[in-house]
Amino acid sequence: MPLYATHAIVTRSLNYGESDKIITFFTRDFGKLKGIAKGARRSKKRFQNVLGLFSHLRLIFFDREGMGLVRAESGDLLHLFPNIREDLKKIYYGNYYLELINEMAGEREANPEAFDLLLSFLTDLDTEAPEEEQLRMFEIRMLSLFGYRPNLTRCGLCKRDWTELKDVPSVFFSFEKGTLVCGKCSKNGGGLVPLSLGTARLIDQVSQMELAKLRRLRFTSQALAESRGLLPRFISHQLGKELKSLKALK
Ligand SMILES: [Zn+2]
Repeated sequence: MPLYATHAIVTRSLNYGESDKIITFFTRDFGKLKGIAKGARRSKKRFQNVLGLFSHLRLIFFDREGMGLVRAESGDLLHLFPNIREDLKKIYYGNYYLELINEMAGEREANPEAFDLLLSFLTDLDTEAPEEEQLRMFEIRMLSLFGYRPNLTRCGLCKRDWTELKDVPSVFFSFEKGTLVCGKCSKNGGGLVPLSLGTARLIDQVSQMELAKLRRLRFTSQALAESRGLLPRFISHQLGKELKSLKALK
């Protein structure tokens, strides 16, 4: 059985049987992987308590082709994120990040950018006070990285762009079509919410902004309210389900 090594973050952890654990990892090189860690609750030596939620580790695992579960062999802890574990609000934020990744990522589909983004957001969450902008930014980047990026640059029906829509009194977002819809075209569609062009532009910018700039960005209260009404609902629509951790956050 071939042996592999990769950076991994623990996104789900369940006790299994007498002494094993079933773990979901989001890995840098292999995307989402489910694995069994045999004897993980007995052997301190092989895992050194690194299999708790949020842990970032260098994972060594065996993989037999065609098998669903990999066999986690050992792990070296890189970051424990201890402050996330001790603050209820941070736990809610962190759980939401992990659930979003778990739901959006396909098994064994590498997405190193998504891994780096999760690591960066967990690092900020560990060291700084949680701000709602971070949730919205994480949602925007996840949508973009996993191929669900909404069209916010022009009306999806008549194709008029921001400059041409500047003087239009109202613009909407269609959850059904994942696009901006101008007032004129809005008569043809249901499931629309009003959206200001300013917020549409902001969300579009966040989806491609450098991480360093992103960390300094603040939303206006209007942008925050509009993106709060839009993003979680759009994600539920795309995934076909409500996220449990989102309810806890509210
Ligand atoms: Zn239009």
